[in-house]
Amino acid sequence: MLKGECNCGQVQFQIDAMPAGVIICHCSICRRHTGTNGNAVVLLKNDNFQWISGQEHISTWKKPKHDWQIWFCKTCGSQVPGKNDENMIFAPAGALTEGGEDLKVIHHIWVESKANWDEIGATGQQHTKHFGA
Ligand SMILES: [Zn+2]
Ligand SMILES: [Zn+2]
Repeated sequence: MLKGECNCGQVQFQIDAMPAGVIICHCSICRRHTGTNGNAVVLLKNDNFQWISGQEHISTWKKPKHDWQIWFCKTCGSQVPGKNDENMIFAPAGALTEGGEDLKVIHHIWVESKANWDEIGATGQQHTKHFGA
């Protein structure tokens, strides 16, 4: 089992099955959101995810005209898990506090949009755009 939380600790969640690995999105929207080289997440089936506390502290923002939405703690601003599609949820890899020690990077997406200073490491398959590209 994996656990994670936001910086202020109000939002806490639990993952009941080991995710396949970490996916890093290097797109410009994720880069602006985090202020870093992208966004590192794990993908989970809805059935393998549970909130422990703090859902009422979560706010969300969708970028107009884009298929991009982010969920975050209203108090501390940390990114928190959100809906990927009808069956899947994504959780920020950096928010995991226990159980994620053996995770490896398995995919880099939107590599064509990466920052010039971003040097992608040896692990993980690189995709120009989304999966399949
Ligand atoms: Zn918080
Ligand atoms: Zn992105």
